[in-house]
Amino acid sequence: MFETTIAGSLPKPEWLAEPEKLWPKWKQEGDALRQAKADATLLWIKAQEDAGLDIIGDGEQARQHFVHGFLEQVEGIDFENKVKMGIRDNRYDAMVPQVVAKLRLKGRVHAMEAQLLRARTKKKTKFTLPGPMTIVDTVADRFYGEGKEGRIKMAMAFAELLNQEALALQADGIDIIQFDEPAFNVYMEDAAEWGVQALERAVQGITVTTAVHICYGYGIQANVDWKNTLGHEWRQYEKVFPALAKSSIKQISLECFHSHVPMDLIALLKGKDVMVGVIDVASDVIETPEEVADTIGRALQFVSKEHLFPCTNCGLAPMSRDVAWKKLQALAKGAELARQRF
Ligand SMILES: [Zn+2]
Repeated sequence: MFETTIAGSLPKPEWLAEPEKLWPKWKQEGDALRQAKADATLLWIKAQEDAGLDIIGDGEQARQHFVHGFLEQVEGIDFENKVKMGIRDNRYDAMVPQVVAKLRLKGRVHAMEAQLLRARTKKKTKFTLPGPMTIVDTVADRFYGEGKEGRIKMAMAFAELLNQEALALQADGIDIIQFDEPAFNVYMEDAAEWGVQALERAVQGITVTTAVHICYGYGIQANVDWKNTLGHEWRQYEKVFPALAKSSIKQISLECFHSHVPMDLIALLKGKDVMVGVIDVASDVIETPEEVADTIGRALQFVSKEHLFPCTNCGLAPMSRDVAWKKLQALAKGAELARQRF
């Protein structure tokens, strides 16, 4: 009961990449970089186990960014000539690569870290991939065409590639495959209309547990400012949850702690596992076990114990290592307290 899991990303040690940055530069090259990525992955597997988490991830140590890590292995993308693009409905600018030809995978994307994860923990494992709609919002297009039609076409093309990697991750022995779709909380109509369909394409043939993580983004200033414009009640999830409830995706996340998301939206996810965000990623203040257990208690009004998975609100990548480590412990301790309470 109350199996704990993280959204996905964890801070990179400073010998691997620039600390506390969303798009950090690597500090190594070639073989040294490959080794450093593997070492950092091992370090965080151990840290998650030591903290007492139940579902273990790779901490996304081998990818520079949760979207671009995948894109680097895709043919048809020009990484040399990045362009500045407003992403998440112009919430912030990012330098993004451009799609210039038909998309194809060059080969496996995450074999090294997925196989390392599977070999080095006996616990359940989770592996994250960017969702098709969020990819489309984090890359410039020079090939699939203008407007919504072009975006849908490109999303479906990415979904096919994501599916290839997901099937390979399943073969690697990963227990849960999660797609990250922060864009679902930005383009709510599109998410319900075709975002979920693209996800369905990405999970075709997947028999292990599937999950989707939807959030209000990393704890960076642009996101904090955006959240301040969203008003007293954040009802973004309300549009996409009904479509997800009807989908084949088994686990769905939502931000809870320190968010203005009404808890009763969980009721829209009847029958699904719900990853309840009990850890704030926009604050360095460490949650107490009581606060975590309280959030779990509030969520229990709308989801049964068996379906509740305490989780972080989003990834911890831009935080300091020390804060992230303490937040992992807070998550595990809070879930333990909740097991006693409920
Ligand atoms: Zn997130």
